[in-house]
Amino acid sequence: MSPQEDIPPPRRADSPVFYCDAMLGGLARWLRAAGYEAHFEYGIADRELVRRAQEGQGILLSSDGPMFERTVIRAGQVQALYIPQQMNNLQQLGFVMARLKLPLLKPRCMSCGGELLSLPKHEVMGEAPPLAYRHCSDFYRCGSCGKLFWKGTHWQRIRQRLDQADRQARLDA
Ligand SMILES: [Zn+2]
Repeated sequence: MSPQEDIPPPRRADSPVFYCDAMLGGLARWLRAAGYEAHFEYGIADRELVRRAQEGQGILLSSDGPMFERTVIRAGQVQALYIPQQMNNLQQLGFVMARLKLPLLKPRCMSCGGELLSLPKHEVMGEAPPLAYRHCSDFYRCGSCGKLFWKGTHWQRIRQRLDQADRQARLDA
């Protein structure tokens, strides 16, 4: 049996928390855009990652076969899902959504996973790039890292790709 065929339902089914291995930084960013809490730390050791996933009662995501030989994962003390390596980031997102039957949620900051808070337009005058200020009306600030976001063409492209992953997930589910 391949590792991904035996994942129990998430303990926090409404909004699972993900712990991504050192190869899955791109997936972590897309999971955040899809509205999920996803932890990623560049170069993190497997042992530490497993420990954090266990402590945070999250789901460990990994493309590393030997990871699934670890006792705590085999025993089901840490939930883990194997992510096929050959997929691109967006296919990986669709795969996770399909496997765990996850909907798209309110987007989080792709950089840090913080909550995006709506801002009145006048508050970003002088901070938002002039073109964005002129053409957009919806602005948000990340509650954790302070990064500014707006619903411009970049946002729409991300949204389209999320919708694409969501459609794919429904077909694959
Ligand atoms: Zn942030």
